[in-house]
Amino acid sequence: MRRKLVAANWKMNGDDALTETYLLAQNKLEASPCDVLICPPATLLRSLSETFRNTNILVGGQNCHHEADGAFTGEISASHLRQCGASHVILGHSERRLGQGEDSHTVARKVRRAREVGLDIILCIGETFQQRESGLALDTLEGQLVRSLPSEQVRPESLTIAYEPVWAIGTGHAASSNDIVEVHSFLRQKCVELLGGVGGKDVRLLYGGSMNPGNAAKILALPDVDGGLIGGASLNPGSFARIAAASGGRSH
Ligand code: PEP
Repeated sequence: MRRKLVAANWKMNGDDALTETYLLAQNKLEASPCDVLICPPATLLRSLSETFRNTNILVGGQNCHHEADGAFTGEISASHLRQCGASHVILGHSERRLGQGEDSHTVARKVRRAREVGLDIILCIGETFQQRESGLALDTLEGQLVRSLPSEQVRPESLTIAYEPVWAIGTGHAASSNDIVEVHSFLRQKCVELLGGVGGKDVRLLYGGSMNPGNAAKILALPDVDGGLIGGASLNPGSFARIAAASGGRSH
């Protein structure tokens, strides 16, 4: 049985005031039946991790560099995230793949670097609307998954895959239940092929893309959906807490 995870991706949003409103929702978040993770901009990571130090609320980064350190002006390393109290890092988000030209090979190097310092990974993959319309969704996802993992095996319990169809992110149009079930069962099969029968079943599979308090219970009850990655709705801690409360806690 996998414990579900509901993760907030604030993206390049939020400030000390949002941290304060999250603090007001602490009791609700702590009472969630699932793991709860908040990924703020890097500048807020330390204060958020200190705010939630003695709670079961986790904090994570949204990206890290593929090298350990060096002359990379403006970048942040995996160990910087760790030092700020991060337990997880989101890697390969489509806003980085498409907006920053990040390819799967680079994502795999980031995964390796993050694992070296003990960060758990939320690896995002997702097809564009054109790829789905051309019948290439599953091939695209398989390619991204296989190429975004380093050659050495990543410990399955430290790996979460987030299926985030690009066309569903921030659009208000979540994928249909049928599409989510098809993709998640495909990804489960691929994880089993890549990591073995036991390991492949330990990997958590999140859905992300316009999840909100209105559609969360339905999506989070689908087979092989082990939680959600939440963008827009996570900027309201009340909404985020309602999504976490709807998660159901464990998947079979
Ligand atoms: C995301 O970007 O990770 C995401 C899921 O965004 P939204 O919930 O706003 O679609």
